[in-house]
Amino acid sequence: MTDFHHSRRRFMQLSGAALIAPPLLTGCSPAQAASSPASLPRKAIGMPFPSWGRLPDTIPPAPKEDSVGFAVVGLGGYAIGQVMPALAKAGRCHVAAVVSGNPDKAARVASAYGLPKDAIYNYDNFDELAKDDRVDAIYIVLPTGLHADWTEKAFAVGKHVLCEKPMALSPQEGERMISASKRAGRKLMIAYRCHFEPYNLHAMDLMRDKAVGTIKTIETFQHYRMGPTSPSENWRVVRSLAGGGALEDYGIYGLQAALYLSGETPSHIRAVTEQPAGDPRFAEIFASVRTEMQFPSGATASLFTSYDSAPGRNRVSVHGDAGTLLMDPATGYGGHKMTLTQGGKAKVLKPGDPSVQFSRQCAHFADAILDDVEIRTPGEMGLRDIRLIDAIYTSAAEDRVVTL
Ligand code: NAD
Repeated sequence: MTDFHHSRRRFMQLSGAALIAPPLLTGCSPAQAASSPASLPRKAIGMPFPSWGRLPDTIPPAPKEDSVGFAVVGLGGYAIGQVMPALAKAGRCHVAAVVSGNPDKAARVASAYGLPKDAIYNYDNFDELAKDDRVDAIYIVLPTGLHADWTEKAFAVGKHVLCEKPMALSPQEGERMISASKRAGRKLMIAYRCHFEPYNLHAMDLMRDKAVGTIKTIETFQHYRMGPTSPSENWRVVRSLAGGGALEDYGIYGLQAALYLSGETPSHIRAVTEQPAGDPRFAEIFASVRTEMQFPSGATASLFTSYDSAPGRNRVSVHGDAGTLLMDPATGYGGHKMTLTQGGKAKVLKPGDPSVQFSRQCAHFADAILDDVEIRTPGEMGLRDIRLIDAIYTSAAEDRVVTL
């Protein structure tokens, strides 16, 4: 047995935190667990215009002839703030339709993108997209608990699907999405934008070239303190829409980084969760998740994610036998910083503009559709990650090391 297989007490000493693992998720996945009646429902509904996300000042130029037309499903902060501007500037794609449960918001967004009235759909007439030749692909930007159902619906109307991260809330849902893609003969991609972002791509190259020698350990921190909220107003704290919470939403970036920087998937997982009583933010989800992973090579990773830890941090570091790579901030929309230390000398690296990640991701999916380019972040990658998230919660709930 390696040091990794320590007792629960030893784990908590190593972690330096008194986290407890409530049996909240034992025996059922977050997606299957019931929410309280006051929570936002696990069905697609109209919501107000988001608190962030600006519409363009001028209508984007008309698409080129071979451009891939996307219908954007769910007009929330990320769809309006990042997805739609990225589609408009990616070159080989464009916004061709919107799908929303709020007609006023949909009309406002459609008009800003120069879309005709008949390119506005809602959750009830979604099936009519099957007859709309302007739409080749559907971008799902709904709360995570709705990804599987709406991806299946999108394949049923014969379109390709780009789905936001995380893919879904349970491995079963992920499997359903992949099967639906195969049945329809249409492509499925998961929107893991860091695979198109220059800093993270350069970090992957550096690790492949052994810039820090043999990797010994990777540490990731993705956390912030969420303001007052509750399941009746915010899907991110509703278990049936968000799963366990911070891990699926934010910690997934640390999990992904540990995998794409090590180039491995873990063989053993040990995790603890924290869910403080009496806090409406954490009535249904965990406040924090701490995970230790061991890889087949012997390298380890330590991941911490939380909605209740300030100041916020988004940091990834890789420690090898010949150096260290530090990314801080590591996986955000911009402002990335990266330092490589070798032989005691630190070098600041600036491999490119992180803001290209959004449009490059969309352009890649267009390349996959038009030229059959292999998808860098396919459904299978999303499914791998949900299985790991499942293993993390199993470890915490059952208070044991999970062997994969
Ligand atoms: P949001 O709350 O701003 O928007 C969600 C939208 O979904 C709402 O505006 C509404 O139009 C629609 N919706 C339909 N049914 C709903 C329901 N029952 N409850 C709440 N909203 C409902 O959320 P967001 O931040 O835009 O996140 C949407 C998706 O995008 C999630 O999957 C999230 O993980 C992902 N996301 C990805 C990134 C990234 O960097 N890749 C960043 C933010 C969000």
